[in-house]
Amino acid sequence: MTTPIPHWLEPTASSLIRQLRQEQLGHAPLIQGPVGVGKRWLADVLAATLLCTEPEAADGRACGRCHACQLHQNGTHPDHFVIEPPEPGRQILVDQVRALVDQLVLTPAIGRYRLGLITPAENMNESAANALLKTLEEPPNNVWLILVSNSPQRLLPTIRSRCQTVPIGPPSQSLGMAWLLEQQPECGEREMALALRMSSGAPLLALEKLSAGHVEMADLVLNQLHQLAMGEGVGLQLAEAWGNDQASTIWPLLAFWISELSLASHDAHADPRLKALSDRAISNDWSSLWSGALEAIGLLGTGRRQDLLLAAWLLEWVAHFKN
Ligand SMILES: [Zn+2]
Repeated sequence: MTTPIPHWLEPTASSLIRQLRQEQLGHAPLIQGPVGVGKRWLADVLAATLLCTEPEAADGRACGRCHACQLHQNGTHPDHFVIEPPEPGRQILVDQVRALVDQLVLTPAIGRYRLGLITPAENMNESAANALLKTLEEPPNNVWLILVSNSPQRLLPTIRSRCQTVPIGPPSQSLGMAWLLEQQPECGEREMALALRMSSGAPLLALEKLSAGHVEMADLVLNQLHQLAMGEGVGLQLAEAWGNDQASTIWPLLAFWISELSLASHDAHADPRLKALSDRAISNDWSSLWSGALEAIGLLGTGRRQDLLLAAWLLEWVAHFKN
């Protein structure tokens, strides 16, 4: 591959390529793990290795230069099919899977294999999953199915049992930070650490949050929560400002800060604002504010007035502190 693979994926990538060379890898690997840890990256390494017609002699990796590699990099390899939901978050439909299965049985146009990549596999609805079963059970010799899943527990057991699981988790904090710094050299260390924390350590998700301005927003939200708790600012105005447009961003941030607050009293490195809030709170029981934020997340998109929900939550927030 021409793009260097992130360090934390390297051991898994090497192991996959070795298993491939030794013919120990089943034809339906299921790459599973949380959002943002690099599952798709691994799937692409595997696909590149299978498609390359001039693999490196030393380690069997894709050369990155041959015609097949070039086509794969451009997303136009005729033996490689990517199945995704028509729109993010939607289901993968039975027609998409049937079309894939029809394609996979044809003779490879360039190399030895035809392969389908399904991501995220748990978005297949039941009939789509059932349409895949036969091919998964008895894949033709030159056919590979690579499944990528954020929530493997949502896959049909009949799908899971026919795949070879490749688990991948978040890297250590230091590897995650090092990679983020390579991607965004201008970004401050505190901001990067916060991005990783907001992403449960998943670096690709952290990068997305940094780029989307969610980390900056989180910092701002904590400032505003801090001010309210200290008796400055007006909750109603804040609820109005956050209102209905920003609610889908704000609620997860409120839930995040509540979970950070519940840890702050035991964490010597916690943000000073969290320490101050923790000291001023009337109790260290944050469960009601926590479940309030989660309930509100569940109500997003149902037409409920988010500004009213926010106002009620912020009233409870203010009441949680000594004044
Ligand atoms: Zn190649």
